[in-house]
Order: sequence, then structure tokens, then C-alpha cells
Amino acid sequence: MTRPAPLIDPFARPIEYLRVSVTDRCDFRCTYCMAEHMTFLPKKELLTLEELDRMCTTFIGLGVEKLRITGGEPLVRKGIMTFFQGMSRHLESGALRELTLTTNGSQLGRFATDLAALGIKRINVSLDTLDDKKFADITRWGRLPQVLKGIDAAKAAGIRVKINVVALKGFNEDELFGIVDWCAHEDHDLTFIEVMPMGDMSEEARLDQYWPLEELRTRLAERFTLTDLAERTGGPARYVKLEETGQKIGFITPLTHNFCESCNRVRLTCTGELFMCLGQEDNADLRAPLRESAENDLLEAAIRNAISRKPKGHDFDYSRQKVEGQMSRHMSHTGG
Ligand code: SF4
Repeated sequence: MTRPAPLIDPFARPIEYLRVSVTDRCDFRCTYCMAEHMTFLPKKELLTLEELDRMCTTFIGLGVEKLRITGGEPLVRKGIMTFFQGMSRHLESGALRELTLTTNGSQLGRFATDLAALGIKRINVSLDTLDDKKFADITRWGRLPQVLKGIDAAKAAGIRVKINVVALKGFNEDELFGIVDWCAHEDHDLTFIEVMPMGDMSEEARLDQYWPLEELRTRLAERFTLTDLAERTGGPARYVKLEETGQKIGFITPLTHNFCESCNRVRLTCTGELFMCLGQEDNADLRAPLRESAENDLLEAAIRNAISRKPKGHDFDYSRQKVEGQMSRHMSHTGG
């Protein structure tokens, strides 16, 4: 059988990276992401685990080599390990080069060993503070010891952990060096994310908490010698090396446009909408063609059509973060 032509967008960028949200639910209620009393999507709106498998398998057949699973919190979706199991067959066949996830860490204690056994080698854990009280304050429902245990379990299972920290002025500013030292000690990678806090914070709190990464970088430079690294991953992260510790630190500023020309990624929501670019509203409904036919022809045609609309670059609009809740933390561009 001949392989279908790979997905190439109008700007000659091959689409090799798919980010898939498997649920809108989460066991935390981070202040900048969700309201405390959320109404979640009705079940019939969500892609079933089988549909998620079919969707991802189709993308992989079209050349996607890297899959990042996100949420909400992906590990709270019931039966999610069945989905990971399904995807691991593509790792085994070599069609998929990497299967990874972005998580809040709360369920890693239960799942890390299984995830490692299924071929997951790297994960991103969103963690903004190492202080119990502050952690409980910002996540509302989260508890730090459970997350730290989860991270330990991942490390023990041989999974490489990257810690994603949202930089929030007045919140984790005073922990900058503590977090850097902890990551060095635990041998975790580290990336800082600049974000305008959203969720249900007041306008005032939001502006108070905006901490530009330029400032954070200047602070780091007071203690470390920073060397810019040329390395790019097709995503927005820039990296520096701390010469004294050898650590590689990532910086992600959502307003940065300079990675667009190499952007190889698209994002699928848990309801089957494909977003071709983080910074633009345009999306394509893939659920309808998926449900319309048991064959994949309609779905493939819809995917190709969507990719033909992938824009050249983005004009980031923060108001969308509010609409999409978890975007503000597990941003679709983050995590390289
Ligand atoms: S930021 Fe992440 S961990 Fe926090 S509520 Fe949103 S999805 Fe959950």
C-alpha cells in the first residue's frame, strides 16, 4: 500500500507535531485557569477514547511524529491508560517518534510506571511553587506533597521530567533561585513561561502578577553566567545555559512571533476541533467527518483542508486564554 502524502502547509512547513487535549476536566482549580465551580462539557461532546485513537492514528498516518497529550489534566480522564496503550503501538512500529504529556503531576504516583512501560520518555509537569501553602492557594484543590511524590515516581520510572513554571510577580518571584537549585539537584529540566494571569483574577491582580521574563532573566544573570543557546524545537522556547551548573533553562513568551516560520505543530481539542495556530481563532471541526463515516477518507480530507489554511504566523490575543481556560497554563505552544 502506498503511504498517503504527508501534511505540508502552504508555507512548506511539514506538520509533524500534534498536541491533543483529551479532557477539559482537572482535579485542580488554578486561579488563573479555572473558576472554582466549573461547568464541564457534556460527555457526548467529547471524543471517546476510541475516537481519539482513530484521530491520532490518522494524523500519524499523515506524518505526525510527535504527540503531546494534554488536558485539563490528561491523567484524570477515565480509562486514559487504554489510550496510551493504543498509541504505544505506533511507537513500536516506529511511525511515532515521541509520545509525551503535559500534566499537573497529581496522578503520576499511580501511572508513572505504566507510562514508562508504554514508551513515554519525557513529560512536562506544570509546577509554579515549591511552597505548600502557596501551592494550595494557587491550585485551590491541589496539594504539593502529592505532586512531588508523583514527580519522584516519574523519575524513578526513568522518565525525564521538565518543570514548567509560570512566572508570576509577587507569587514565585522570591522562589526563582530555589526552583532553579531544586531542578539542578533533582536533575529536572526547567522552563519559565510568561503569561498574563487569567482565570477569575481581578484585573488588578492580573497586572500586579505580570512578570516579564526579561526581568527574570536579568535576576538570573545576577547569580549565573548565561549563555544563549541556538537550539530551537519548532516551538517558542528559547534556551540559555547556566554555565555554573550546566543547566539548560527554557523561556517561553507567548507574544514571541519568531518561531512561526518553523512552526510544525497543530492542536486538537477534546471535542475534535483542530486549531492550526495558537494565536488565531481559525479552527476546523474534525469530529463531524470522523463520526460521519467509519472509513477515514472524510476525516483525512478535512485534515488536509484544515492544514491548507494554516496561517503563516500568529497575532497572539490574550483574550483567547480566558475563553480556553487551561490554555493559560498548559499553553498549546509550551513544552517544545
Ligand atoms: S492550570 Fe492545569 S492544573 Fe491548573 S486547573 Fe488548569 S488544567 Fe488544571
